Amino acid sequence: MELYKQQHIKIYNSLSGEKDNFKPINDGYVGMYVCGPTVYSNVHLGNVRTFMSFDVIFRYLKHLGYKVRYVRNITDAGHLENDADVGEDRIAKKARLEEIEPMEVVQRYTVDFHNILNTFNFLPPSIEPTATGHIIEQIELIKTIIDNGFGYEVNGSVYFDVHKYNKTNNYGILSKRKLEDLIHNTRELEGQSDKKNPQDFALWKKAEPTHIMRWPSPWSDGFPGWHLECTAMSTKYLGEHFDIHGGGMDLKFPHHECEIAQNQAAKGKTPVNYWMHANMLIMNGKKMAKSTGNFILPTEIFTGDNKNITKAFTPSVARFFMLQAHYRSILDFTNDGLLASEKGYNRLMEAIGQLQDLKTSETSTLDIQAWIQKCYDAMNDDFNTPILIANLFEGVKYINQIKEGSETISLKDLENFKNTINAFVYDILGLKNDKTNAANGTDKLSGAVQLLIKLRQEARINKDFALSDQIRDELAEAGIQLNDGKEGTTFSTN
Ligand code: AMP
Ligand code: ZN
Repeated sequence: MELYKQQHIKIYNSLSGEKDNFKPINDGYVGMYVCGPTVYSNVHLGNVRTFMSFDVIFRYLKHLGYKVRYVRNITDAGHLENDADVGEDRIAKKARLEEIEPMEVVQRYTVDFHNILNTFNFLPPSIEPTATGHIIEQIELIKTIIDNGFGYEVNGSVYFDVHKYNKTNNYGILSKRKLEDLIHNTRELEGQSDKKNPQDFALWKKAEPTHIMRWPSPWSDGFPGWHLECTAMSTKYLGEHFDIHGGGMDLKFPHHECEIAQNQAAKGKTPVNYWMHANMLIMNGKKMAKSTGNFILPTEIFTGDNKNITKAFTPSVARFFMLQAHYRSILDFTNDGLLASEKGYNRLMEAIGQLQDLKTSETSTLDIQAWIQKCYDAMNDDFNTPILIANLFEGVKYINQIKEGSETISLKDLENFKNTINAFVYDILGLKNDKTNAANGTDKLSGAVQLLIKLRQEARINKDFALSDQIRDELAEAGIQLNDGKEGTTFSTN
């Protein structure tokens, strides 16, 4: 029997404001959509945290035996600066500054995104659609919204009529805002925009002559609105009504509110049963964000090359650090927090390493079955990873007690205990054992690079700069950077 028939999940649903019992639309199947990155820069650790929250949710649903279709998009057009309706496209701006094609920007940062997530041991989503690959679907959606009376065209651009929509629907249903308050708080000056009302949002924008990311449409050569792409891609692959939609807390309004409005306007139904929002990673008291410069890159964690940390940390330690907070809590990024997580992670891995040496007895003095259910209860309660980790440390205590002989465990209980620890630590939390990994590769790589660093030093002493440069450049091409410092040469990988 599938585990999900015994383990019942509750999900905090931003729509209801409560923890709701999770019941998929189709028994045994789950459709989940998560807003992906806008690929105009390297992902920072804050972005990684949000995607990690959903990686663990995906992993747990799969562990319970659900057939999950997990769709996470790539935003490669339509996302303007400041999440606004006017301004420069983020990708086009980067392309302009770097004097490269927008699609080169997209390629570079999509590859970076995949590499980073891979380093953190993420599972790939089932489908990863791009906005530019779904222009036709977006145009069709706009046509339907116009036909249903909720969209209007002005000067080649199409806007969503929020005021009209709100007469028969509730704009604000997700973010718990009221249109009257939004009107009251809007400072946009009249006459500066084609919109009927400042609260309306763009479905299609006519491209200025300088805007290079453009596609033909019935209204103008232009580009789709950012909110629209997620409605088009989620419903294309998951249907007009699906189970879970996730993203960072900062996307709840206006992005997700607009997604609900668009689907309701086009299809006459609410798109999603469970809206999930992951909370922010902060640093020095402020949200980690590219735009303010208050961020840390994953590669800086792995090399220790950032003023906010005193040493390098492995991807598993960083992952463990983030999962020690519940996904709905704000997490403060600190060096002390990472150091504490590193200790905890090492203690956990050490204990797991001792599992195979534990001696069994006729009977158990420990209630392993109750402990196993406590692990499930933690995850069933809105994916509470910190409580799960506390239970795993309870398991570490058991391991030590069995080793010392103050508690006993039967053969059958030991099998269940081992299987549960392995499932939760590796399959669900997605941790890796760094020691085993190091033995399997990292140490060997380090040894080989150290040899090359030594040869390069010798070449420099012999004034053979051609050779020393060749070693540095060819290593860089292979993704290994040499960093010359006061205390000698170190290396980092990307
Ligand atoms: P973006 O590429 O800006 O669209 O962001 C990608 C994802 O990262 C979105 O779901 C954001 O909500 C999320 N995000 C951005 N900054 C942070 C942060 N400091 N902590 C957690 N998630 C974040
Ligand atoms: Zn989205």
